[in-house]
Amino acid sequence: MIVILKQGIGADTPEVDRLREVVSRFGDVRLESHRIQGASRLVTEIYLLGDTSEIPLRNVEELPFVERAFKVSEKFRQIGRHDGEAEPLATEYCGVRIAADSFELFLGQCSADTPEYVEQTFRAVTQSGVHNSRIGAYKPRTSPYDFQGHGKQCLPWVFELAGKHGIKILSMEVCEERHVDEIAEALDAAGNPVGVMLQIGTRNAQNFALLKAVGRQQELPVLYKRGAGITLAESLNACEYIASEGNRQIIFCLRGIKSGLGEPHRNFADFAQIPVVRRLTRLPVCADASHAVGKRERSSDGLMDIFHVTAQGVIAGANMVITETHPEPSRALSDGAQALLPTELAHYVQDTLLVRRAYEDRLALAKKHERGSE
Ligand code: PEP
Ligand code: MN
Repeated sequence: MIVILKQGIGADTPEVDRLREVVSRFGDVRLESHRIQGASRLVTEIYLLGDTSEIPLRNVEELPFVERAFKVSEKFRQIGRHDGEAEPLATEYCGVRIAADSFELFLGQCSADTPEYVEQTFRAVTQSGVHNSRIGAYKPRTSPYDFQGHGKQCLPWVFELAGKHGIKILSMEVCEERHVDEIAEALDAAGNPVGVMLQIGTRNAQNFALLKAVGRQQELPVLYKRGAGITLAESLNACEYIASEGNRQIIFCLRGIKSGLGEPHRNFADFAQIPVVRRLTRLPVCADASHAVGKRERSSDGLMDIFHVTAQGVIAGANMVITETHPEPSRALSDGAQALLPTELAHYVQDTLLVRRAYEDRLALAKKHERGSE
């Protein structure tokens, strides 16, 4: 059971003691408190753990300091939406808000290569009106003979350049627990010129030790990429590992699934599941069209497949888009085949925002019809 306390009532209060007293009459129940960043406010949630089946909801709801209470299923206990009862979760970090009702773009290189290219990329990203980027220092590649990333030695200059160009958040993949510490140390040493969102890549989608490690620290938000070869429910359960360690600043990213049926695209775009993730969970959702499409091909209408597939994610309600770019794709050390050129970014951003406006129009239309049918 989750109990949401009324605004302003914290975790260590006589009210929580009173709640403990009421529920312990019905069995051996443990209370766990969480301060949650909801979509529009901070709330205190009390989790009642153990056998709560005998606790009448009414006895909890009638307490004057309780806003509402609801039973939760075993599944997705922390990230679940629980039939719309649970408050949507929002990430508020470095002045950027990523939530169920907002939209953010992240544009950047697959991996950090040279300071010259990285600087050109950050410049092009901010010139296109975007203030979040992405870059890999640790690259889990399919082949051990491919470029594995520059590792921690590139962090100082990457962070410095990001700060210099006004980047607010950088999404950066981590593959081992020590990468989290290396990033935190390098950010501190550089004077925190930028924020980092820890990215869990599809190859680590069920690396439970890593998931717990990014969940234990609560400073940096997490972009969790759906496992390309596992079910949606398995990926959502993996996210639950992050949340159950304490970090609820999580964004769930769809990036296409592995299937020969997606050919000639690199992966099969799974953005039809954006509404599903939004229905089942309290998490904001991200769409990564770069890794779904995997190439710079254009359709007969002149638009690149990456533009079209991004549009599919955005029209379906994505709250964030993450896309790769490189100043010279043919010289990129990873994923050059799918990188947009700096000169293409302005068009890409305008096209994507146009689709976002169409999504907002769809919501307004739905509200109008809802009112009409009342
Ligand atoms: C990436 O973002 O560069 C990446 C490796 O993505 P994924 O884990 O989705 O393959
Ligand atoms: Mn990549």
